[in-house]
Amino acid sequence: MACIADTLATYRILNFYSDGSLSGPTSFDLKMGYGWNCYDMDFKLITSFKASTQYWPSSTRAELSALLSIIMVVPINSTVHVYTDSQSLIQGFNNIKQPNNTSRRLYLKKQNYVMWSCIENIYKTHNLSVTLHKVQAHAEDIYNNMADTLAKQGANSDIKGCPDLVNLSPIKFIPKFFSLPIETNIKKFINDVFQAKQFQTLLSLNRFKILNQLNVDRNISWKATWHVYSSSSKGTSFVSSYRKSIKTKLFFDELPTLEAMKHRRPDLYPASALCFCCNTELETLDHMWTCPSRKICVNNLILKVQASLFSKLIAMNANANLTDIKNNPVWSWQHSNQFVGGFLFTRGIVPSSLVSQISLITSNQELTLGLIAQLHNQIMELFISEIWIPRNEKLKTFEDSLDITPEQKKQSCSTTNLSYLKPILGPQLQFSLLKKWSYMKWMYNSIVFGYTWSDFCISLNK
Ligand SMILES: [Zn+2]
Repeated sequence: MACIADTLATYRILNFYSDGSLSGPTSFDLKMGYGWNCYDMDFKLITSFKASTQYWPSSTRAELSALLSIIMVVPINSTVHVYTDSQSLIQGFNNIKQPNNTSRRLYLKKQNYVMWSCIENIYKTHNLSVTLHKVQAHAEDIYNNMADTLAKQGANSDIKGCPDLVNLSPIKFIPKFFSLPIETNIKKFINDVFQAKQFQTLLSLNRFKILNQLNVDRNISWKATWHVYSSSSKGTSFVSSYRKSIKTKLFFDELPTLEAMKHRRPDLYPASALCFCCNTELETLDHMWTCPSRKICVNNLILKVQASLFSKLIAMNANANLTDIKNNPVWSWQHSNQFVGGFLFTRGIVPSSLVSQISLITSNQELTLGLIAQLHNQIMELFISEIWIPRNEKLKTFEDSLDITPEQKKQSCSTTNLSYLKPILGPQLQFSLLKKWSYMKWMYNSIVFGYTWSDFCISLNK
C-alpha cells in the first residue's frame, strides 16, 4: 500500500471502482475481501489493489475495508470519486460528511464503528474531497465487473490490506473480546454473551444432554425452536396461560408424570407403580405418547395435525411434493442422536430438516416458522384435551386406590430421602460436549466466521 501511495502522490483527482466480496459466512470456509482499480481523470488505469479482510463478516464490512484502503493511499488534499454498488456504504459515508456529526457516543452503537472512525479520521485530517457514486450491481458495467473480480481474488488471497485498526482509530478506548475489537453495539454484544452463557447452561442440564450431539450435527433449528417456544395463542385467559405452562413443562421435561411424582413424593407414590392407564410400563414423558392404552388416540392426533399442515402447504403450492415431509422422523416415536423425533418435537425442539423441507415449499422463512409454530400449537392443544386431561381424570381414581388425598399432596414431603430418580429419556449414552468456556468460543467464532453465536454453538471442537 505504501508503494501505491507513492505512485498516486502526484495526482489531484482520482477515480476508483471498488467492490467487496463475502462468501461462506457462518462457516469455516468464510472468505471476505475487496479490490479496486484506480483511474486518472481520463479513466486510464493507474493501479489496482486487492486484499482479504477479517472479523465481523458482512458485505458492508468488505466494502468498507475497500474504502478505508482507498482513503489511506490517496494524496492529501486530493479529490476522490469512488464508484461502488453498496448503498449502505454510501449512506454510512454520507453520515460522516455531515458537519453536525459530532456525537461520539453514537459511534459505539454502530456496526463496524472502529473502521468507520478510521475512515472519518483520515478523511478529515487529510482534507480530502470524497464522493461516492452508486453503480448497479451485476449490471453490464465493465469497470464494476473488473472490481468484482478483483474483490473475489482478494477474498481468496492471503494479502492483508488494512493495518491494525485499533492503532489507526482516533477512539481512545476500544472494548475488546479476546484481543479482537468489539466492532458492534456493545450493549447488544454483552447481551449476546449472557444469552450464549444461558444457552450453554441449558445444554448442560441432564435433561438436555440428549440435545448435545443433535446440536453439534446441526440437526436442531434453534431459530424455529425459539419461535415455537415464544409464539402463543393470543390472550391472557386462563386457558392460554394453562397452555403456556404445559408448553414450558414439556420443553423442560417438568410435566408431573407418575415418574416425576415418584421422584418428588416418594412418601406417597410407590417406586414400583406403573402407568395407571396400561399397567405395563413406567409413566415417563415419552410414555405419554407410546402408552398402549392410547395408541389409536395418538395415531389420530398425528393424522389430524399432519392433514392440517399438508393442506396448508398444498394451498400455498398445489404442486408441492410432500414426500420428504411425510417421511420426516418427527412423526415417529423414537429417540436418536442422528435425528429429532416426535418425542423431542412435541416438546418444542424443531429439527432443521423440517424447517428446510417446509421452506422448499413456502420459499419464505417467516411463513415456515409460522407454520411450524401452528403445527406445534395444534399438537399442544390436542395433547391437553385428548391425552393430558383424560389422563388426569384417571389419576384421581389411581390416587384414591392408594388412599392419596388432595390434602396429603399439598403437604410437604414427609421424607427427605429423594432417592427415586426419574429415568433419563433418550439414548442411554449421553455426554455433555460442552466445556466450561464453550460459550466464549461461540462468541469468538461469531466474530471471526459468522453473524451470531447461535450459528456457532455447534463448533465446539475447532
Ligand atoms: Zn401406559
